[in-house]
Amino acid sequence: MNTPEAVLKKYFGYTSFRKHQKEIVDTVLEGNDALVLMPTGGGKSLCYQVPALMLEGVTIVVSPLIALMKDQVDALTANGIAAAYLNSSLTTQEQTEVFSKLRANELKLLYLAPERLIGKGDAFLNFLSEIKVAAIAIDEAHCISQWGHDFRPEYMMLSKLKETFPKVPLIALTATADKLTRADILQQLGIDKSQVFLSSFNRGNIRYLVQPKQSSYEQLVQFLEAHKEDCGIIYCLSRASVEGLAARLKEDGFDALPYHAGLDRKTKDEHQEKFINDQVKIITATIAFGMGIDKSNVRFVVHMDLPKNIEGYYQETGRAGRDGLDSDALLFYSYGDVMKLRGFVEIENNQEQTEVLLKKLSEMAEFGELRTCRRKYLLEYFDEEAPNECGNCDVCLSVDEKFDGTVIAQKALSAVYRLEERFGQTYIIDFLRGSKSAKIWDQHKQIKTYGVGADVSKEEWAHYLRDLIHLGFLKKSEGQYPVLVLTEKSKEVLTGKVKVTLSKVKETIAVVQESA
Ligand code: ADP
Ligand code: ZN
Repeated sequence: MNTPEAVLKKYFGYTSFRKHQKEIVDTVLEGNDALVLMPTGGGKSLCYQVPALMLEGVTIVVSPLIALMKDQVDALTANGIAAAYLNSSLTTQEQTEVFSKLRANELKLLYLAPERLIGKGDAFLNFLSEIKVAAIAIDEAHCISQWGHDFRPEYMMLSKLKETFPKVPLIALTATADKLTRADILQQLGIDKSQVFLSSFNRGNIRYLVQPKQSSYEQLVQFLEAHKEDCGIIYCLSRASVEGLAARLKEDGFDALPYHAGLDRKTKDEHQEKFINDQVKIITATIAFGMGIDKSNVRFVVHMDLPKNIEGYYQETGRAGRDGLDSDALLFYSYGDVMKLRGFVEIENNQEQTEVLLKKLSEMAEFGELRTCRRKYLLEYFDEEAPNECGNCDVCLSVDEKFDGTVIAQKALSAVYRLEERFGQTYIIDFLRGSKSAKIWDQHKQIKTYGVGADVSKEEWAHYLRDLIHLGFLKKSEGQYPVLVLTEKSKEVLTGKVKVTLSKVKETIAVVQESA
């Protein structure tokens, strides 16, 4: 019988589906649209390949990664699946062959770039309307959104697909999209009512580490000394620093090659090949490197400079440890980088974009300054719930920096409670410290909690409040003048049912960004 499980076994040799894969396959088989979010290596391809083998007609796969199409198609063909691709690397005769196979309904999967699907005029779309199209899969779907971190104008044309093929199931897949990007993908593709499948983004084997960027080269060398046998990627912001770093590392006896979009095709391919085949251990690169690269034993990813947003950071660090073995993601963080990137954003974009991009940048900066679990922050960024401690990030691992902060938390929460959740952070801190400032209303000076936190400095309170927010014991309201409010978890602290672990404020964290 031709069940999804049977197809999975027969063509791919796997005995069971991973989480969500089966539901996604069923959704497509039922003729419905879907948006699939799965981390890299999660198994997105099978979500459209299995239905492709079961449905009548050809499944069109749109992908921006022309360089990878041949490999993907070769792998499928080796498994006995009728697949082909169309791109500029094919000769006219080869293209003609693909077309005649399409007409004869002999293909199950066809890979192509968006500009090939909807290029100048609708010739190809018209051709497709004459043959049986089973489904359309859009890989790297975040490329359609300007709010994603890898916008590609040629993806915008894909908005026409749903109009042209209203009855054909459309499945959009991505490994990286926050809430805003997701909504945008659905809207742009015209599949607002489609089911959204959100897989866990947790990569438990990746250890997240952040170091203040001081003398980053020396810090890097120290890190690399401990990774002598390992392969890794080191990301830098500029092409010049990519080249400079590779040269300097080589001088110091490390096995490194550079990669960035300014190098000629041949050099790029050569360096990439060498890295994939373990002939060179380290690649220094701009973010131009890595998309679609399937190398399982990357043991570390280092960011010498701050990424522009969490999605980029998450995707780049996600290239480590695809084999499931322990891997490190190290970020050198400085507030100087935040300022620099902020400058770029403001120069390069219109006002609406600037607002969104600056928000994303500030979330990235917040990650760098975090004193609560970094994994929790990442997962919550992608709307996934996570425990307060993961045990595998620098914050969770620095046990000696922690203390029982239950009393501190109780003071803060009861201040928020007694002030009826109507005030922002600055006021709460002044209130806790018993500030004499005229700002504090006279009636508030009568409240019991007034001044109970006078022994803690303003800066420390700012840290603790931020930690309490990240731990979910307090919340900042939305809007222009955010106030602190309690959460469901607050009550358990106030009644003493739950203990709160806080991080000591280190002298070295000099820059505290007050946002409210
Ligand atoms: P993604 O596109 O999400 O990065 P892939 O589709 O390339 O991931 O899948 C990653 C790896 O996991 C591939 O080697 C694939 O064969 C394997 N894989 C996917 N689904 C399953 C499954 N159900 N059982 C076993 N292996 C799977
Ligand atoms: Zn952690």
